[in-house]
Amino acid sequence: MGAIQSHLLRGWIFTKNISTMINIVLFGPPGSGKGTQSEKLIEKYGLNHLSTGDILRSELANSTPLGKKAKAFMNRGDLVPDKDVIEMVINKLDSYEDANGFIFDGFPRTQEQARFLRHHLTDRDLRVTLMIRLEVAHEELVKRLLLRGEKTGRTDDEISIIENRIDVYLQQSEPVVEFYEKMRKYVPIIGAGTIDDIFYRICQAIDARI
Ligand code: AMP
Repeated sequence: MGAIQSHLLRGWIFTKNISTMINIVLFGPPGSGKGTQSEKLIEKYGLNHLSTGDILRSELANSTPLGKKAKAFMNRGDLVPDKDVIEMVINKLDSYEDANGFIFDGFPRTQEQARFLRHHLTDRDLRVTLMIRLEVAHEELVKRLLLRGEKTGRTDDEISIIENRIDVYLQQSEPVVEFYEKMRKYVPIIGAGTIDDIFYRICQAIDARI
């Protein structure tokens, strides 16, 4: 058995009654509110937050080998290669000893990542409960991201990079919807309105499924 397999078998899932786990993929373009809604969902359902964007930003801030490699991709608003992101997610998932389940925020972003997640969970008798896509109009996304850039200084919240991130989302990430649609796990949610309105809609979708 190879190093990765033995690593995969030693993990968080054996510590929990797996039938009660909720695994939500929160999907949508940049600026659709995934981070904001994740925070509320974690609190309500007691889930762990796995945001690949947050992990990558922390790798970058700490100048790790992965951070150094990811930097150029992130600065352009392009996707970091699947191989690197998948390895990072494996490490993160296995670092949780006691999980009620996960909110996957910003992951999977390609069909390759979606296939990996399905295999990784299936190997552990687990599955994605629901894939929720937040739908927000293009102009609203740009407006929100520019505002966030002003507030937080996040360097990729700059107009030309924003436009590229939205293009990358449409071209490379949208096919992930089809992946979950085939498995009848896909639920579109209107991502406009107040934070609480959107949260209510998401909770209704989750509660109908668990
Ligand atoms: P986010 O915070 O989710 O908007 O992600 C910020 C940046 O991190 C993206 O523009 C990508 O460069 C990179 N990134 C985050 N998640 C992924 C992923 N699942 N696959 C590839 N790149 C990612």
